[in-house]
Amino acid sequence: MALTVTVLGCGTSMGVPMIGCRCAVCTSRDPRNHRTRPAVHLRTETTALLIDAPPELRLQLIRSQLDTHLDAVLITHTHADHIMGLDDVRGFTLRTNRPIPVYAEASALDDLKRVYRYVFFPYPPGVSTPQIEFREITGVFTIGDITVEPLRVFHGEMPILAFRVGNFAYVTDVSYIPPDTWERLQGLELLILDALRYQPHPTHYNLEQAIEVAQKLGAKRTLFTHMTHDFDYETVNAQLPDGIELAYDGLVARVGTD
Ligand SMILES: [Zn+2]
Ligand SMILES: [Zn+2]
Ligand SMILES: [Zn+2]
Repeated sequence: MALTVTVLGCGTSMGVPMIGCRCAVCTSRDPRNHRTRPAVHLRTETTALLIDAPPELRLQLIRSQLDTHLDAVLITHTHADHIMGLDDVRGFTLRTNRPIPVYAEASALDDLKRVYRYVFFPYPPGVSTPQIEFREITGVFTIGDITVEPLRVFHGEMPILAFRVGNFAYVTDVSYIPPDTWERLQGLELLILDALRYQPHPTHYNLEQAIEVAQKLGAKRTLFTHMTHDFDYETVNAQLPDGIELAYDGLVARVGTD
């Protein structure tokens, strides 16, 4: 089975360009310096899913022409940059009239049910809300022909999820990878990893830490994500060690999962 991974967004919570900033990256004409909030789209021939639902989800899906089919949404954690686009699944459920399963941990489901409470109100006919069905992640689960392994990572003090699918793993918003998860991140063909900025940060890897982790894990290819306006794509990407690259919005990678 081959998996196609599309980076829908690789920006940090404020996106790049940042409101009010006129730095060289925020005003750059290189589209690879325009970073919407973080998410990836995974698909096989038959199954399509999202990891996270950022505020720009609608535009991201349309831009990458991934707006015709969706089977599920996986949530890493409930910070605004990862969930505030969930209402956009309405674009799919209006056409299919079938709910889309949204997978998250119990604590994240509590947040989602609070934020998206209006979705479950009774409405008069003709009013459309997204049809979503919350499902608790308690272990490995399968969506169509995609098997998802949830992995524990830490975002500062906050336990959140990373996901492994075959030889691909998505590890965003991370400042610590516990040993069990470290073991499950071996033998990867593609790793997408948090690398926020140059300066250290209490809840994210900075560039130096991300490079060290990427080199130790030794995935065949590592892409950095969740990036601020610190990084000019062209400049920073050229300085990275072999096998490590900056992601950019719209990047497509193919991974064998056998
Ligand atoms: Zn984030
Ligand atoms: Zn800037
Ligand atoms: Zn976060």
